[in-house]
Amino acid sequence: MGLGNVEIMSTTAAEIICQSKLSLALTGAGISVESGIPDFRSRGGLWERFDPMEYGTISAFQANPEKVWTMFQEMEKIIRRARPNPAHKALGRLQHMGLLHTIITQNIDNLHQEEGATSVIEYHGNSKTLSCISCDRQYRLEKLGEEIPPRCTCGQILKPDVVLFGEAIPPRALRESHELASSCEALLVIGTSAQVAPANTIPLIAKKAGASIIEINVEPTLLTSSVTDIFFQGRAGELVTKLADEVEGIMNQS
Ligand SMILES: [Zn+2]
Repeated sequence: MGLGNVEIMSTTAAEIICQSKLSLALTGAGISVESGIPDFRSRGGLWERFDPMEYGTISAFQANPEKVWTMFQEMEKIIRRARPNPAHKALGRLQHMGLLHTIITQNIDNLHQEEGATSVIEYHGNSKTLSCISCDRQYRLEKLGEEIPPRCTCGQILKPDVVLFGEAIPPRALRESHELASSCEALLVIGTSAQVAPANTIPLIAKKAGASIIEINVEPTLLTSSVTDIFFQGRAGELVTKLADEVEGIMNQS
């Protein structure tokens, strides 16, 4: 039996990763769906129940932090229940093999780190820490008491360190990810259509730098027909695992 198209593509993608001096992954909501976190923007997602204009903006938080905290509580509940899935695990493996320099994630769920990823840029922040918008003091979620909404010692209501609409991407995350994208040789795009600015610039920067773009998504995206070199359609858990297995196979041969 000959190799199917998907097998050939998978081997090619694995070879690209093995040969690349600097590989990156850009991940989005789609990689966490299999962990039980619906895409906030999808049907049944957080933004269906909480109007993002009323609950998701920094000005809404400044005006009425108690109200926005009803959304944060729901967000936290969803994230607390989530567990990393095989796609997180496979990316962690690639990173331990020294073949995936950095994971740039738009997710705030910490699932890459829970599955052993060592270098992660959190483009939209993380829900595990909270900060005071008045005095900048930072707290770890697990160190806070039961009080909702939690308060800073200065009395101000704390805000999880997630990027709300109207807030800037953390400058260091923005700078580092753009620097890496402009010098990478392979970019894995997983579970994201990368349409939200400024994350949408990462595949474009990488492509311009001459990188191979390998995309894994359940549906084709705008990237598929423009910058993507190899497109795998399907679930991230299965496809990223297959890719990591192929990479491991090649590395064991050499
Ligand atoms: Zn404070």
